[in-house]
Amino acid sequence: MTMNKKQFETEAIRTQINRTEFLEHTSPLYLTSSFVFEDAEDMRASFSEEKERNIYSRFSNPNTSEFVDKICKMEGAESGYAFATGMAAVFSTFAALLNSGDHIVSARSVFGSTHSLFTKYLPKWNIETSYFNINEPETIEGFITPKTKILFAESPTNPAVDIIDLELLGSIAKKHNLILVIDNCFATPYLQQPIKYGAHLVIHSATKLIDGQGRVLGGVTVGNEDLIREIYLFARNTGPALSPFNAWTLSKSLETLSVRVDKHCENALKVAEFLEAHPQVNWVKYPFLKSHPQYKVAKKQMKLGGNIVAFEIKGGIEAGRNFLNAIKMCSLSANLGDTRTIVTHPASTTHSGLAEADRLVVNITDGLVRVSVGLEHVDDVIGDLKQALHT
Ligand SMILES: *Cc1c(COP(=O)(O)O)cnc(C)c1O
Repeated sequence: MTMNKKQFETEAIRTQINRTEFLEHTSPLYLTSSFVFEDAEDMRASFSEEKERNIYSRFSNPNTSEFVDKICKMEGAESGYAFATGMAAVFSTFAALLNSGDHIVSARSVFGSTHSLFTKYLPKWNIETSYFNINEPETIEGFITPKTKILFAESPTNPAVDIIDLELLGSIAKKHNLILVIDNCFATPYLQQPIKYGAHLVIHSATKLIDGQGRVLGGVTVGNEDLIREIYLFARNTGPALSPFNAWTLSKSLETLSVRVDKHCENALKVAEFLEAHPQVNWVKYPFLKSHPQYKVAKKQMKLGGNIVAFEIKGGIEAGRNFLNAIKMCSLSANLGDTRTIVTHPASTTHSGLAEADRLVVNITDGLVRVSVGLEHVDDVIGDLKQALHT
């Protein structure tokens, strides 16, 4: 019997590997590094890929396949591969698809390690990157050269929560025959599906909202089958595979992604509204606040505003540092997308190595605070922020 494609929430729960003879209700954990063959002919056919089957868990494993299958259904992708971390997914995607001499056009504000990959490591293989300002999308085409192969962006961005028009990126990629790669980590497949707008590949750090409980690291790249094939062969030979245990955990997490993210977004909007009305706050950036510069674009491409709120505290670096020190319940931590609310002050912590002018290029002002709003009762989160703003 062929079943019609089901709704997002149903796919997240009912996409499952085949039951074993024990008729378990939920998928078991396959902690096995390799799989056995019936005989020499079976082994030959498996290695020549005449048969689709598990051979070795660096290539595939039932738990990683289930996880990848779910993400593919959620993103509307043909195929995918799961990685040990989000950065393994980012690195492998670029390394598999690019050759020496190729060129990338990327948004300037990208995740810190992705920025290091573009500025420190890819140039070792003669792969250069040009950066456009996310607030000047009309300049993007000017950076494209005959060597450009990949157009890359994140939306919303970290930590300034800027939004870029995915439909516009899709049309530019199409016109110039580029591979459009979107890091969809902040939105999750529940809030935004870049493939609809013309993305060829979508990357996630599953460590964030996909796990959502601050437990395991993971990453995934999904999208066009031919491109994924290249990435798969690269990964199969270089070894960044996701562990079966983490895949099993992440696949379980996806079952509750929609309800968790709904609540994260509800709490985040309330936190954003509270901050916007607070006298110690210069401005607040949250995609679903009317005051967000790209509010209309956010409304067009996102189901809800996400869980990250950025705001500028009055008083610059000192005020930001004092605010962090006054926080009582929320966590000071490098993660985001956890059940626990996390507060960071980039200018005095993660981005303190950058000169002020360089921070400003990516909209990190001295007083910028990033809140990853969790699933505690929102009154307790607001209460903690409020008392810290008053000290
Ligand atoms: C965290 C993050 C990554 C890297 O993911 P890891 O799982 O930590 O390796 C990549 N992109 C974005 C946008 C992130 O937030």
